[in-house]
Amino acid sequence: MAQAGKGRLNYRCPSCFMRDLDIDMFYDAEKEEFYCIRCQYCGSEEDVLKKNEMVRFRYRAMGKRFRFEEMDG
Ligand SMILES: [Zn+2]
Repeated sequence: MAQAGKGRLNYRCPSCFMRDLDIDMFYDAEKEEFYCIRCQYCGSEEDVLKKNEMVRFRYRAMGKRFRFEEMDG
């Protein structure tokens, strides 16, 4: 059932998404990894999902005014 190229699952690239680009990733069935043709990001499905969550969190947090330097205490 596995096939190369665009699979049944469409994940956007978290790395590109962080830069406001909505890029669909391709699936490498051999390595069982998703990869982005634009920024060379690649990772497992789990990694992609986790990073996409992080990006979403980042975007939500953007409304608040904090900076990373300030978080060190
Ligand atoms: Zn990318």
